[in-house]
Amino acid sequence: MRSLLASLAAAAAMLVAPGLAGAQSYPERDITIVVPFSAGGPTDTVTRLVAEAMSKDLGRQIIVENVGGAGGTLGAGRVADAEPDGYTLLLHHIGMATSATLYRSLPYDTLDAFEYVGLVTEVPMTIVARKDLEPADLAGLIEYAKANADTVTVANAGIGAASHLCGMLFMSAIETPLVTVPYQGTGPAMQDLLGGQVDIMCDQTTNTTKQIQGGTIKAYAVTSAERLDVLPDIPTAIEGGLADFQVGIWHGLYAPKGTPAEIVERLSQSLQVALANENVAARFAELGTTPSPKEDATPAALKAKLEGEIARWKPVIDAAGQYAD
Ligand code: ASP
Repeated sequence: MRSLLASLAAAAAMLVAPGLAGAQSYPERDITIVVPFSAGGPTDTVTRLVAEAMSKDLGRQIIVENVGGAGGTLGAGRVADAEPDGYTLLLHHIGMATSATLYRSLPYDTLDAFEYVGLVTEVPMTIVARKDLEPADLAGLIEYAKANADTVTVANAGIGAASHLCGMLFMSAIETPLVTVPYQGTGPAMQDLLGGQVDIMCDQTTNTTKQIQGGTIKAYAVTSAERLDVLPDIPTAIEGGLADFQVGIWHGLYAPKGTPAEIVERLSQSLQVALANENVAARFAELGTTPSPKEDATPAALKAKLEGEIARWKPVIDAAGQYAD
């Protein structure tokens, strides 16, 4: 009897051992974080800052791969299908929640295809325009947009992207649909805004602060409740006349469903180390954002956020009745 139990225990250990061994020695090679938007945009910027600090903590290179398209759903789909071994991760924003309703058929089940590592940061948006757009302030912009609705172009990163969401909120607040121009991320959209090929964009401060400070684009409003320390002269949208116009874009780090819990836990610890890094905090501050606190850089906090945000946006999107597919 004893020997039967012993051999069962040994067999069980053999079954468990490879996974555990992998988890204990993790990471044994370089890790890839998929950014579901183009290089040079806000999600990319946040990811590269965090990846650099996590890479030091984990002792391995972290490669950032940009898989843009369809408002972030292509990159998310890539990670949903990846090996759940901790070597392919996803850094996505609020679009993870909104696309769950905006796309009636997604190639993955948003709440069932991922493990949650933790929240990363929350970033305000800015309503910006090409440098030579005439209106001097938000009230003027609204008047101008209403008068030129057929020709005013608004850049976004595809349906489900934060810029799409913010642009939609703006158009609905001014009760005027404008011409939308989709990109694979707001990195390339910014290039077109700088070049004057597109008129307006609503995008994260992580993509717009430097350009606003340098005077290469025009800023009409920030979408936070209060003005930002890094952009003290830019009024909030609420001050500019758009009551209740507040948009904050949160980011989360995910792994494919089935990634061993020990690995997810290790990644979460590493994310917390990265977010506590002084250099990361300083760079985030320069870009108008703050790292998520330690208690939010956890699987439970990200899971709760995603579930809450899907529930929050679903009725809004369903009421608008505008889907991506
Ligand atoms: N800011 C983009 C968005 O609209 C995404 C990006 O390019 O990072 O969601």
